[in-house]
Amino acid sequence: MDRTQIFIDGQWTDSASTETIEVIDPTREERIGAVTAGTPADVDRAVAAARAALPGWAATAPARRADLLQAAGERFGARIDELGALIARDVGMPVKLAGPIQIGMPAKNLTAFAELARTYPFTGQTIGNSQIEREPVGVVGAITPWNYPVHQVVLKIGAALAAGCTAVIKPTEVTPLAVYELIDVLAEVGIPPGVVNLVSGYGPVVGQALAEHPGIDMISFTGSTRAGKQVAAAAAANITRVALELGGKSANLILGDADFDTAVVDGVRKCFLNAGQTCSALTRMIVPKDRIDEVTELAVEAARGFVPGDPLDPATMLGPLVSDTQRRRVIDYIAGAEVEGAKIALDGRKTEHDRGYFVGPTVLTGVRPEMTVAREEVFGPVLSILGADDEEEAIAIANDSDYGLSGAVWSADQDRAVAVARRLRTGQVDVNGGRFNAAAPFGGYKHSGIGREGGIFGLEEFTEIKSMQL
Ligand code: NAD
Repeated sequence: MDRTQIFIDGQWTDSASTETIEVIDPTREERIGAVTAGTPADVDRAVAAARAALPGWAATAPARRADLLQAAGERFGARIDELGALIARDVGMPVKLAGPIQIGMPAKNLTAFAELARTYPFTGQTIGNSQIEREPVGVVGAITPWNYPVHQVVLKIGAALAAGCTAVIKPTEVTPLAVYELIDVLAEVGIPPGVVNLVSGYGPVVGQALAEHPGIDMISFTGSTRAGKQVAAAAAANITRVALELGGKSANLILGDADFDTAVVDGVRKCFLNAGQTCSALTRMIVPKDRIDEVTELAVEAARGFVPGDPLDPATMLGPLVSDTQRRRVIDYIAGAEVEGAKIALDGRKTEHDRGYFVGPTVLTGVRPEMTVAREEVFGPVLSILGADDEEEAIAIANDSDYGLSGAVWSADQDRAVAVARRLRTGQVDVNGGRFNAAAPFGGYKHSGIGREGGIFGLEEFTEIKSMQL
C-alpha cells in the first residue's frame, strides 16, 4: 500500500521530494508499503494552508465542528476489522487487541471530542467583572510515534479541531499506514480544505521543520524524551507553545495485603500490552522483599501465557516488536540486566520464529533500582521485579525515576492504596486494577512530559485564555 503523496489544502498532492520510506511488516519482514520522505518546503506549504484555513474554522460554530468530528468517528469506527488488520500488519500488535484499542478507541475519542465541542463553555465564564473567553490556540503541529499511530494523532487533532484550531500532522514514518486512512475519512466527511494537513517524512527533517516554523502556534509532540527535548528547543526560538507526551518507566506497587494472584496477573498484562511498546507500561513490579519468590513464580506463569505468534491470528496475544532495531535493543537490555546482577526467571531472547522481530515474554527478578533496566525505557515484553522492605521504601523506589507517566497500587485496603497513589510523582495511577479511562487527563510528570491529553483537559491544551474586563 504505497501512499506517496502528502495532504495539503484538502488534496493529496506531490511532495517536493521523490524519495520514499519503506514500511515493513515486522512479522514477515517484508515491505507492505511506502510513504514520502517530505521536505521543509512541503512543511511551508502545509503551514500556509493551515494558516489560511484558520479564521474560517475558528469562526465555525462549535456545533458544526462537532457534527463533522462525530461523522468522522462513526465512519472510522465502522472500519474496525479492516483497519485493525492493517495495524496488525504494520505495528505487529495482535489483531484481537489492535481493532478495539488502535481503531475503536480513536473512533470513540473523535466522538468524545465532538461531544466536548458541543458542550464546552468556550465563552461565558465570569470572574468578578471579567468575562473569560477560550479561543483556539491557532495552527497546531502534531508529531506522533509508531506504537499507537492513530490514537496519538486523534488525541491531538480531535482536541485541536474541536477547539477551532487547524493542524499539520507529521505522523510516524515507521507505522504510518492507518493514519492515511484517517485523513481520507476526515476528507470524506467534509472537514474543510486546509483544516487538516499531513506531511510524512523523517523526524529530524519534517518534524524539525515543523517545530521551528514561525507559522506554527503550538507543537504537540508524542515520542521519546530524547526527541521531545529537541522539539522543545526548536520551538523555543519562536516561543511556540509545546505539549510533550514522552517516555515512562512506570511502577506497579503490590503491597503486602494485596490479592497477589489478581495483582500480578494484571501487572504482567499491563506490562506486555503491544509487546511492551506502550509508554504507560507497568514495567517495574515492586513487591515485599520477603515475597519476591512467590511473585516471580506467579509472574512467570502468567507471562508464559503470552506465546509469541502471528498478529493476524485471533488467538495471538503477543506479536513481534516493531523493527529489528527495536528487537536488538530489547535483547541488549536483557543481556545487560544479567550482567548487572538481575536473575532471568523467564528468557524471551530465543523464540520458535526464525522470521519476524520476535522477543518472547521475559521476567527479570531481583532487579535493583540502580540497574539500567530499572531506569531506562526498554519498550519490549520485559518485566522487572524489585523487592522493597516496606511501603515507604516501595514509594521511594517508585519515585526514584526520571520519568513519571503512569503507575499502579494494589492493597486490600482501598484507602491505603489511594494514600500511596497520592504520594507517587506520576500523572496516572491505577488503584486496585482501575480501568483505563479515555476521558481522564493523560500525561506525565518530570521527563515524561508537559501537558495533558484526552477529555476536557486535552481540549483545553489547545485553547488560549482571554479575559475581558467589563
Ligand atoms: P521518536 O521520538 O523516535 O519519534 C516520535 C516522532 O518524532 C516521530 O514522528 C519521529 O519522526 C519524530 N522525531 C524524531 N526526531 C525528531 C526531531 N529531532 N525533531 C522532530 N521530530 C522528531 O519516538 P518513537 O520511537 O516513534 O516512539 C516511542 C517513544 O514514544 C517512547 O519513548 C514512548 O514512551 C513514547 N510515547 C509516549 C506516549 C505518551 O503519551 N507519553 C505515547 C506513546 C509513545
